[in-house]
Amino acid sequence: MNRYHPASDPDFMPKGMLQNVQWSRFSVVLRHTYENVPWYRQRMKEKGVTPNDIHSLDDLHKLPFIVKTDLRETYPYGMCAVPINEIVRFHASSGTTGKPIVVAYTKEDLDIWGEVVVRALTSYGVHEGDILQNAYGYGLFTGGLGLHFAERLGVAVVPISGGNTERQVMIMQDFGVTAASCTPSYFLHIIDKAQELGVDLRRLPIRVGIFGAEPWTEEMRKSIEANSGIRAYDIYGLTEIIGPGVAAECHCQNGLHVFEDHFYPEIIDSDTLEPVPDGEYGELVFTTLSKRAMPLVRYRTRDITKIFTEKCPCGRTIRRIERISHRSDDMFIIRGVNVFPSQIETALLAMEGVLPHYRITLTRVNGLDEVEVEVELMQEQFSDTVRSLETLQRDIRHRIEGMIGIRVKLTLVQQGTIPRSEGKAKRVFDKRV
Ligand code: ADP
Ligand code: ZN
Repeated sequence: MNRYHPASDPDFMPKGMLQNVQWSRFSVVLRHTYENVPWYRQRMKEKGVTPNDIHSLDDLHKLPFIVKTDLRETYPYGMCAVPINEIVRFHASSGTTGKPIVVAYTKEDLDIWGEVVVRALTSYGVHEGDILQNAYGYGLFTGGLGLHFAERLGVAVVPISGGNTERQVMIMQDFGVTAASCTPSYFLHIIDKAQELGVDLRRLPIRVGIFGAEPWTEEMRKSIEANSGIRAYDIYGLTEIIGPGVAAECHCQNGLHVFEDHFYPEIIDSDTLEPVPDGEYGELVFTTLSKRAMPLVRYRTRDITKIFTEKCPCGRTIRRIERISHRSDDMFIIRGVNVFPSQIETALLAMEGVLPHYRITLTRVNGLDEVEVEVELMQEQFSDTVRSLETLQRDIRHRIEGMIGIRVKLTLVQQGTIPRSEGKAKRVFDKRV
């Protein structure tokens, strides 16, 4: 069995060379999967296809998809392609309902994960000598131990995990932290807490934020950067594929480069399941090209994005995806209209005086769906005249309604009213029965 070989400077490889690397890795992984995972063999048999029918990555469309429920149904080890004695680590995705999704890693798989995390950090300008406060949760969740690979770059990692926000601020200040990683919503909480404690993050050495694990908008980035003086970068990943480090922004902050020598992206139309060309929106699908313990072929992420067709000014040749503004299961339908929380976030944060803390509650009154949006305002807005507050409320409401096309009830609340998140934020509460 061929093991994975790191390619030299893979982010900048000429396209032809990249394609050779992708194919040589995939041809090995496909056979490995077919031979060792009965589930795959069965699915491929149903489709009437064997590894012999796949001659290049252009033949990928002949292969069946895999979805989250398939992973749940084969819990815990059904998708493992290696014997247990080759596995050195397990993680699991949160799985809000039922059993979690378990993923396994061999030692080589961990090396791949470490490599892509280091490549991500490098593209943010993080380097040896930096001090990273890693406030992603440690444990079964991949965030904490994923970013912990920063050690391999020579970064000093502070494995503080999530929570105890006051201590986060103290350590950020006392340790001379230069980079922090957590969910964007948790960093908002840290910013708030620092303000409360009279600590101005803009005066601290911290310069880089590595934020992911949940959708966040450009407006949220602007708010974070303005209030902390750092540059906020996006990192994308999912447990099933490896964890954080599947794709990462570069200094251009315009789309995330996919580490496609390990994770091959496709965009498909979720209804027809047909691939769509680069540049068009659809559901992101990944094929792992080098993982051995739990390789996945054509895993449907439910995340919606597009692949950029333009070259990135940074010179990386690996392709970019647009930041993930939503997953298809985040969408809610109100009176027949599809709404994404990110649309509301964009509308809210474009307004002066509005804080990046909000909550959306869906109710049904007399058979009719209602949307209530609560948003925090800066303290000084409340000391203005009642009239100007009413004007602001109307303006915000109009902006949201203009964005999503339906009426909403808007409630302006004092700073600190909406519960803060230490991990992935929950912003939508659907109380319709
Ligand atoms: P779970 O599926 O339980 O939430 P994961 O931690 O594996 O567990 O979450 C992966 C999902 O998180 C992705 O499929 C995506 O929807 C979301 N996600 C991760 N990183 C980002 C990001 N940078 N931007 C937007 N969404 C993200
Ligand atoms: Zn770039």
